[in-house]
Amino acid sequence: MYDVMVIGAGPAGCMTAKRLADADYNVLLVERMKIPREKSCSGILIKKSINLIENEFGKIPHSVLCKPHISKGIIITNEKNQTFKFESDGLNVWRSLFDEWLALKAQSAGAELRQSTSALSCKEKHDHVSVKLHDSEIYEERARIIVACDGAGSIVKRNLFKKSKNYVFTYQTFCKGTIDLDPDFFHAFLDPQLSQYDAWFNVKDDFLIFGVGIKEPSTMKMYHSRFFSFLNSKFNVKIESCVKDEVGIMPGVMPGCPLDLGTGRILFAGEAANFLNPIGEGISSALTSGYGAAEAVKSVYKTNNFSVKSLINTYKCNILPEKEYMTRQWTILAGMSSKFSYMK
Ligand SMILES: Cc1cc2nc3c(=O)[nH]c(=O)nc-3n(C[C@H](O)[C@H](O)[C@H](O)COP(=O)(O)OP(=O)(O)OC[C@H]3O[C@@H](n4cnc5c(N)ncnc54)[C@H](O)[C@@H]3O)c2cc1C
Repeated sequence: MYDVMVIGAGPAGCMTAKRLADADYNVLLVERMKIPREKSCSGILIKKSINLIENEFGKIPHSVLCKPHISKGIIITNEKNQTFKFESDGLNVWRSLFDEWLALKAQSAGAELRQSTSALSCKEKHDHVSVKLHDSEIYEERARIIVACDGAGSIVKRNLFKKSKNYVFTYQTFCKGTIDLDPDFFHAFLDPQLSQYDAWFNVKDDFLIFGVGIKEPSTMKMYHSRFFSFLNSKFNVKIESCVKDEVGIMPGVMPGCPLDLGTGRILFAGEAANFLNPIGEGISSALTSGYGAAEAVKSVYKTNNFSVKSLINTYKCNILPEKEYMTRQWTILAGMSSKFSYMK
């Protein structure tokens, strides 16, 4: 019987597992993929993420960075061609290497890391949760508390609540070439002609990365090629070759930023709980919610009278400032573009 099982070794899961292992809890961290695993992401760490990481995990190693190492901020262009420039130094990382570093730190702190292992479902019993896991075979493990950090597509959540989710699909390509846009910034375009959510450009090592967010997967290539033509006419993009493309998902954020925090002995953190900031910045909320979940777990273990109700209530209190921050951020974005006015 584990004290806690954490499902998913992204930023939310690694933060939860690391903090609990540091406090000597018996923690199992299961990750569906073999680490380092690919994760479709622009890999920009804002200052808030960097502070959270460096406080908990130590200095971010040079080996996980890509060029340009420093991301100078974000430039948002709305449908009226108005631009909003937010300058703030962040870091540009490869998510596969960065997340591997986080997972190994959680493991060194004492969490048992089980890779290539998928959680299939969770069943809550009187004093524990039984989790069906799948590696080369299907078997069960038990833990007194589960923190599900299995991302936007959370299987744990779908199994528990059986409700369909609201997603944004992302499609991005990695190309070699040239463009007249500042590589030190992340560029987001909110014109509805270019995407159903946002369209973006950023640079990682030698790659020019072009992406679009859409609601209907069948339209992804159409919007992507429209975005490309737009960049061609406005910013003189010249492509020599395209090396790879990738599809990702994010939670579709709704007005008021509703969260799914969990039920009984099962908490959700990160994107599994719907944490996401504007234009896809989600690592800082994943870390913050993972931190809040770990603290809630510690607090129920510390009381003699283990109360499931107090687990979720404490977690709710812990993440309230993050929810308020997220709501403020979306309101600011709604003021920049009519596309997001429903978030006001
Ligand atoms: C295209 C794109 C660009 C983005 N760019 C940025 C950016 O520049 N900066 C930023 O801050 N955020 C960015 N984000 C958002 C960011 O990637 C997420 O918000 C963040 O990764 C969420 O962290 P998480 O730990 O909740 O989930 P994830 O990072 O998704 O981690 C979930 C983990 O759970 C594992 N898993 C899933 N199912 C199971 C299962 N059943 N059993 C076991 N393990 C499982 C997955 O393999 C994965 O490792 C971007 C997102 C997208 C799609």
